[in-house]
Amino acid sequence: MEDNSKLLRERAKEELRRGKKIETSLYETDLKVLVEELSIYQIELEHQNQELIHSQDEIQQSNDRYLDLFDNAPVGYLIVDLNGVIKDINQTACVLLESEKNDYIDKKITKIIHRDFQDVYYMYFRTLINQKPNQPCDIKIQKSNNLFFYARIQGARQCHITSNDPEFRLAIIDVTIQKEMEIKLLAAKEQAEESDRLKSAFLANMSHEIRTPMNGILGFADLLKEPDLTGDEQQEYIRIIEKSGIRMLNIINEIIDISKIEAGLMNLDINESNINKQIEDIYSFFKPEVEAKGLKLSYRNILPVHEAILKTDREKVFAIFTNLVKNAIKYTYEGSIEIGYVKRGSFLEFYAKDTGIGIPKDRQQAIFERFIQADVSDKMAQQGAGLGLSITKAYVEMLGGKIWLASEEGRGSEFYFTLPYNFEPVKESIDQVPPAQGTTFNVGKLKILVAEDDEVSGMLIDITVKSFGNEILKAGTGVEAVQVCRDNPDIDLILMDIRLSEMSGYEATQQIREFNREVVIIAQTAYGLSGDREKSILAGCNDYIKKPINKKELLSIIQRYFGSK
Ligand code: ADP
Repeated sequence: MEDNSKLLRERAKEELRRGKKIETSLYETDLKVLVEELSIYQIELEHQNQELIHSQDEIQQSNDRYLDLFDNAPVGYLIVDLNGVIKDINQTACVLLESEKNDYIDKKITKIIHRDFQDVYYMYFRTLINQKPNQPCDIKIQKSNNLFFYARIQGARQCHITSNDPEFRLAIIDVTIQKEMEIKLLAAKEQAEESDRLKSAFLANMSHEIRTPMNGILGFADLLKEPDLTGDEQQEYIRIIEKSGIRMLNIINEIIDISKIEAGLMNLDINESNINKQIEDIYSFFKPEVEAKGLKLSYRNILPVHEAILKTDREKVFAIFTNLVKNAIKYTYEGSIEIGYVKRGSFLEFYAKDTGIGIPKDRQQAIFERFIQADVSDKMAQQGAGLGLSITKAYVEMLGGKIWLASEEGRGSEFYFTLPYNFEPVKESIDQVPPAQGTTFNVGKLKILVAEDDEVSGMLIDITVKSFGNEILKAGTGVEAVQVCRDNPDIDLILMDIRLSEMSGYEATQQIREFNREVVIIAQTAYGLSGDREKSILAGCNDYIKKPINKKELLSIIQRYFGSK
């Protein structure tokens, strides 16, 4: 249409120039056509104009919608150019960064990325530029207040019609909570793997720790059968069997203690205790062993004896010191060991110092954990399952104190622990002092019932009590024990095993107490579990002794009840 009208116009202009008379018919017809075409053209233009206005309106709306979505999207957006300069930033990102838009526009994005994550970001941006498909990546981003948060970013290339320079949109989500959860989960996983590894090491170690003394016991018991042994040889073999037995009992006790601690079944038995006396006892107990190893043992008690009173669990304090001194002896080859305490405010600070092999700095915390030994890589041929110090630490903490150490490899170790000093001067110590060595055992002649279903244990008790037993009766079950007791109202002492068939020792004791309140009943149990003592006393027993029965301990208990006879 446009070409046609141009043609008509050109023709008209040409004819006018040549002076040619324009024919009316042509003029009129063409003019009409021209006017009509022009009218149509004008209408078309108006339509086009309207469409243009409409499109502009739509573009404006779409732009508004985009800006609204961009600003209020649930994720933060940053638009960066090829050089990593921030060109735009949405409102959500501003909220995450706790700042204003203007603080970021035309700034380099790397300024807000934690230095440890610059490389990660750089690698990520490179893959984005190279248009390779990329996974989101997690980085740490700095807020305006210099705090950091974990962000997950995902990028996309932005397309522009008007410019050849690419821009990139980065999708930012605050993943701090997930990240912290992830870190916690990872730590838990590592801990689980570590304890799994420790448990395997523990089992292997335990197997070794139990088999070694077993080997000694069975091997030397076998050798004892040889007919031509000299008296000295026999004594030496017996000593080895005894030592192996003690070692085995130690390991079993440690396993039981740690299990009780972990199950929350370890109870405290708080009494007044003279701490000077305890230290002296420890000193006398270990002195021969220390001297036999060519070392020196010394102690220092700084408080006067009447002020050296603590309200504490005497046995646990004894166990704490015993563990520390045993280790000091074990890991010291020359020099000395010193034990003692000083007063620090409302605490007494106890110590056990040695001049032994010391403990490397990086193992000093770990040794208080279960199953850990300081020299894991280069295990010295030392006995021990790595339980002693974790039990010790648990005891110290149960008693309201703290434990720590100072040690230098090759120079020695100093273990310290505190206990609350709750001294009340009026009271006397009520320590139950075992009969001093050499004290004559004199309890008269007793009528004794041994309630025991294990033959070997029965034999052992028989032999132990034979010297002061006027008459020794036997019962193999709980029911029998009650019956024997009913038939013999003059029995002085019952050694009652707790795990008896037909009727337990507790129940038998309860029944006996219904008709005999005088007889002294001492419970004996091999369970070694918490509450055994309480249960025995509750059932009506006078006292309690743990198996394997220590002859001295049994005699000391019997002396306590019959010593005046
Ligand atoms: P263990 O039964 O192996 O002795 P512990 O828990 O008592 O277990 O001690 C853990 C580890 O700490 C020991 O294996 C040893 O490596 C180290 N250790 C403890 N006490 C001392 C000490 N006095 N001197 C040097 N090392 C010690």
